[in-house]
Amino acid sequence: MEQVLDRGLHEECGVLGMFGIENARDLMYYGLHALQHRGQEGAGIVTVDADGIMRRIKGMGLVSEVFNSENLKYLEGNMAIGHVRYSTSARGGIENIQPFLFHHHTGDFALVHNGNLVNANEMRIYLEECGSIFQSTSDSEILAHLIKKEHSGPIQVHGIMEALNKLEGAFAFLIMTKDRIYCCRDRYGLRPLSIGKLGDGYVISSETCAFEVTGAKFYRDVEPGEVLVIDSGGIYSYSYSAHRNHYMCAMEYIYFARPDSDIEGCNVHAFRKESGRLLYKEAPADADIVIGVPDSSISAAIGYSEASGIPYEMGLIKNKYVGRTFIQPSQELREKGVRMKLSAVSTIVKGKRVVLIDDSIVRGTTSRYIVRLLREAGAAEVHVRIASPQMTDPCFYGVDTSSYEELISKQHSAEEIREIIGADSLHFLSTDALYRAARRSELCIACFTGKYPTKLYSALEAAKRGARR
Ligand code: SF4
Repeated sequence: MEQVLDRGLHEECGVLGMFGIENARDLMYYGLHALQHRGQEGAGIVTVDADGIMRRIKGMGLVSEVFNSENLKYLEGNMAIGHVRYSTSARGGIENIQPFLFHHHTGDFALVHNGNLVNANEMRIYLEECGSIFQSTSDSEILAHLIKKEHSGPIQVHGIMEALNKLEGAFAFLIMTKDRIYCCRDRYGLRPLSIGKLGDGYVISSETCAFEVTGAKFYRDVEPGEVLVIDSGGIYSYSYSAHRNHYMCAMEYIYFARPDSDIEGCNVHAFRKESGRLLYKEAPADADIVIGVPDSSISAAIGYSEASGIPYEMGLIKNKYVGRTFIQPSQELREKGVRMKLSAVSTIVKGKRVVLIDDSIVRGTTSRYIVRLLREAGAAEVHVRIASPQMTDPCFYGVDTSSYEELISKQHSAEEIREIIGADSLHFLSTDALYRAARRSELCIACFTGKYPTKLYSALEAAKRGARR
């Protein structure tokens, strides 16, 4: 849906790491491609060679724009970490593209991060008052300064654990030194991080879809509140917090992750299909065809179709060769991007009562546009079914879900939204159905309920003032 058409809903980033893999740069390149949907603003890789020398290439743009067969040769070594980025909390610009690389007399280290710290402002002020000077405006650098502030020697797991305990929010961090990689996940389990095995080596990724392309086999997830250390001796687990939950971000299942990824044991396509089935049970429609907004709503549309017996049809076609709209900054450019990206197939929808399945509504502008597109193509009726609840609250954990004022469900009831988007009927999935589709009892659903699993510090006040994060 709005990854095709901008709805102001963007993932912050994806992280990838490799340990013990010959010429890690080659598989890093393909692995970052597999994570490209998590961020298109910039990409980077740092490698470590046998002498402990770290080399970095990073730049603005897509993975294919940042790297080429020539510059990749520079990245020597069997260990690497990499990143794809879409910025939310920090300004854009090359200084905020990761990995961050830190030079220190006790040993260089590199760091990548997915997520968002809710106490970033507080920690930054604290560290600056203690003498830290930041290279960037990104939250991610805070961990590096915390680690070095508390422990003056080479990086060790206990120093990392102490630093992680001071952070609040959502994160998956990879920290690479000359001989090991530390894989860290927040104690609430908000952001995913999985480990795959490839020969004697390891691949660490935000999403398991990167394992397929690199040939790795899923090994295990990094648990909430855990630091996994990977070195030549193997893999070691440390727990840095007694307080641990599995509040995985529901939007990973609903929208962000690739359908071929498994998140904490649940396949994303299977989740979406089940959410479509439950959506039919909760909000049946009398119609001739079911259509999904490509790409992320197709699985839910198939589920709705199977449960209802109403045939699924390709009534909307996406032009895959147009750049993603959400990297274009102005509303005018975004709307032009939408027009180029989607077409309604008149011969399929003409005279038909259509059920349109979409995964979420953020601002409502895209839904209104698609309903109009279907009507102009001749649809007799358009019944909109949304495979998630009404999004009423912003995210503070690394997903750019707009400010309170921009969220149409904060301002309007479902019936008012139906009228605004011009649909014949409109229904949203219940929060209960999300747990059932994921077959789990814990999830973060804060953007649908306003009940955040962490403290929010000054981030909530800023959002209420209307400041975009
Ligand atoms: S608030 Fe919403 S988008 Fe943010 S982590 Fe929770 S479920 Fe995901």
